[in-house]
Amino acid sequence: MNNILVIHTGGTISMKENKTTGDVSPDTKNPLHEWEEIAAEFANISVHSFLHLPSPHITPAHMMDLFRFIEQCMADKPADGVVISHGTDTLEETAYMLDLLHHDEYPIVITGAMRSSNEISPDGPHNFVSSIRTAASDNARGMGVLVVMNDEIHTAEHVTKTHSSNIATFQSPPYGPVGLITKRGILFPRKPVKRDHFPVSKLSKKVLLIKCYAGMEEDSFRHFISQRFDGLVLEALGQGNVPPALLMPLKEVLDRGIPIVLVSRSFSGIVQDTYSYEGGGRRLKEMGIIFSNGLTGPKARLKLLAALSVNLDKYKLQHTFEQLQ
Ligand code: ASP
Repeated sequence: MNNILVIHTGGTISMKENKTTGDVSPDTKNPLHEWEEIAAEFANISVHSFLHLPSPHITPAHMMDLFRFIEQCMADKPADGVVISHGTDTLEETAYMLDLLHHDEYPIVITGAMRSSNEISPDGPHNFVSSIRTAASDNARGMGVLVVMNDEIHTAEHVTKTHSSNIATFQSPPYGPVGLITKRGILFPRKPVKRDHFPVSKLSKKVLLIKCYAGMEEDSFRHFISQRFDGLVLEALGQGNVPPALLMPLKEVLDRGIPIVLVSRSFSGIVQDTYSYEGGGRRLKEMGIIFSNGLTGPKARLKLLAALSVNLDKYKLQHTFEQLQ
């Protein structure tokens, strides 16, 4: 049997519903411990409680600490794979940050739950055991960081939470899951083509994420960019267009030597330099704005944070964001 390192960080998967008030909050004892015996049918597990936080409290610094903790555990006692339990609200961000840092063959699987442990039909125990099975599967080796929820396996790069409460919330638009979990096996019909890697030792930069909307005012935008920051991710409209009022302040940001990465606020698809009208993508590209390869805004923000932390120059930044994966 393979050896799996289990690390708990909190989230609904470790919470309980108060039957009188209906509110959900962290439980003193992690309810996942009750499922370790079943999980042990699939792997030898060693369990660590690293954090006990709701995931809106998680920061990039926690993500770095979590990665260091994994590395330290692996150095002390090597395992064949890692399973992390995490709140679902920022699960995709932790997954993606770990994917940017992780450069080894062993899989890291992240899971969570939409229903707390004592609600009707909790999804946490099933997701937890499915994650152990996935991390223990030899087929998962070399797949990077994977998200296991609801019998599906997603890459950290493409997965996103698409529904606020439905258990089928995690999807990978437009590509779909990379693998499936059945009663009999763990199936990977395809593999990620390429993964980014940034050997970050310290995250010291500040990257802003700003979403565009119809009629966005120049003064509101200027308010955001009046602070000190090192990079900007802009969630543009459609294929990558912005309201014209933003053009002048965007140019000023570029003139300050601050890179701007463009993503789309659309649910699916990539940005392209299609339109040449004022504020259109073609004009933005000519200004020197970097177009991303289909990442969501929060993930492009983490990637820019990681890329700036390893001091990628302008040319390499452009290359790493514009390559299609
Ligand atoms: N708000 C919770 C969290 O992210 C939601 C969840 O875990 O599903 O911690």
